Amino acid sequence: MTKDYDVIVIGAGIGGICCAAMLSHAGYKTIVLESLNVLGGRASSYKKDGCIVDTFIHTVGKAEKGPLGEILKILDKPDAIKFWHIDPKNKPVLFLAGEKYVYPDPGYATEEEIRTAYKGMGLSDADCDEMRSIDKIMYDMTEEESHEIDDVPHFEWLSKHTDNQMVHIMHMSRSMMAGGIGPDEASAGEMVRMTKSWHLEGPMSYPYGGFCAIPEAFADIILENGGEVRLKESVDKIIVEDGKAVGVKTKSGEELRARAVVSNAGIKTTVAKLVPDGALPKDYCEYAENLTYGALAEEVTSIQISLHILVDEVVIKEPVVFAIPVAGYGDQKLDAISSNPTEEEKKKLLGQVGFYTTVTSNMDPSIVPPGKQLINLSARAFRDLPLKETVENWKTILDLLYPGIKEKILWVDTVMGSAMKNFCGHPVPNVIGIGQVVGQVGENRPSVECPLPGLFHVGADVGKLHIGVELAADGALLATPVIKEYLGS
Ligand SMILES: Cc1cc2nc3c(=O)[nH]c(=O)nc-3n(C[C@H](O)[C@H](O)[C@H](O)COP(=O)(O)OP(=O)(O)OC[C@H]3O[C@@H](n4cnc5c(N)ncnc54)[C@H](O)[C@@H]3O)c2cc1C
Repeated sequence: MTKDYDVIVIGAGIGGICCAAMLSHAGYKTIVLESLNVLGGRASSYKKDGCIVDTFIHTVGKAEKGPLGEILKILDKPDAIKFWHIDPKNKPVLFLAGEKYVYPDPGYATEEEIRTAYKGMGLSDADCDEMRSIDKIMYDMTEEESHEIDDVPHFEWLSKHTDNQMVHIMHMSRSMMAGGIGPDEASAGEMVRMTKSWHLEGPMSYPYGGFCAIPEAFADIILENGGEVRLKESVDKIIVEDGKAVGVKTKSGEELRARAVVSNAGIKTTVAKLVPDGALPKDYCEYAENLTYGALAEEVTSIQISLHILVDEVVIKEPVVFAIPVAGYGDQKLDAISSNPTEEEKKKLLGQVGFYTTVTSNMDPSIVPPGKQLINLSARAFRDLPLKETVENWKTILDLLYPGIKEKILWVDTVMGSAMKNFCGHPVPNVIGIGQVVGQVGENRPSVECPLPGLFHVGADVGKLHIGVELAADGALLATPVIKEYLGS
């Protein structure tokens, strides 16, 4: 059966669903085709035993003050997504060798809290001063000045300001956290923009209703405007006729026609797999092939594991819990953890441990049955250790920090880092999208347009500003006016 649309959007990741919502709201007949059975791509959630569980571990930065808020305003629905924000009386915490600190995020921690935690990490007073003076240089830079260092690797820029090893280590962890990339490949200009956005404009937020509340709100707006959203509908090929993208063929064999096709499948997958051979110029295909997710993408994803832990009662009071290994304790050897460690073993283990945890039920208690607690632990998977033992070990570690929690655990779901590939459809599993590395930021960010008329890219790959989900939403903000101009009225 053949149907006609103004726009077909391939993929209901944040970029695709935001763009489709804006196009349907503007009056274009829009359909979204999503191969998974959930909305949101990498930023999706699933339901289990009365809980809403985020597939991967997510928070958002600027929330209503950032691109998501801007899109909601364009859609005349500024309140369609409500966000939890950090309570100054209950800030995210950091464990260092078992000692608890306020996590030193300048977005919400006081100057004193920042310095106390830095010292716990082994920074001297002089290190702390250097760290904050480099932050100040970044905060004071104008957007224009930041673009002047787009092509400078962040480590090279940092080295011009300080050779302090502790400051370099701290910046390495920032580039990993914000962009999933190493500091030697990260663009200095992009690091400045991300740091300013993160520290000065948008500390951690979370959508009420679980992370799926974001894509679901946009899907509702598409439906209200007469659009369609189909799950479990995978696009096999983009149909090209007379040198233009005119529709798609689904894996089930259906052909859908449209005046424009928008792909949220990622620029590399779209060019290599979805566009028929020969429909794009060879140099553009080579350009797309050479774009990189960052040298560390596979390394990061292969050691990452998300553990979703339902606890029978509220044990952890904080909304977010971090742990960072402390120098002097050696490498974490998870395979060597005893289920009943001695005091000496406990001390060593707590000095080696590193993880990041969102306690989403502390942000929104309605996402779990009354009285229960949902903990989402982003940790290290140990390739040589059976999954069951890895999970047991992480339960033991959690119990050392929150005594008694282990026996209150009702269930643990695990999502391996390699699953990221299934949730974006990219050739290589990756956290963010095309890396914010030298040569791929600012003016060199991949364009939403492509040499094949009628085909557009959307999502984090083509966003120019912000981090992760907000980068994807920025991609939608950039793509939508261009697509509207192509379509006309
Ligand atoms: C472990 C992890 C933790 C993260 N933490 C954070 C965080 O805390 N904060 C943050 O801001 N960001 C975070 N991110 C990054 C963020 O999730 C992504 O940058 C963002 O969601 C990417 O959005 P996107 O629009 O590019 O779409 P994607 O998420 O890539 O979605 C693309 C969609 O297209 C669909 N698709 C692909 N091919 C086809 C096809 N042929 N037919 C139909 N559908 C198709 C896919 O199934 C998918 O649903 C994290 C990511 C991961 C993996």
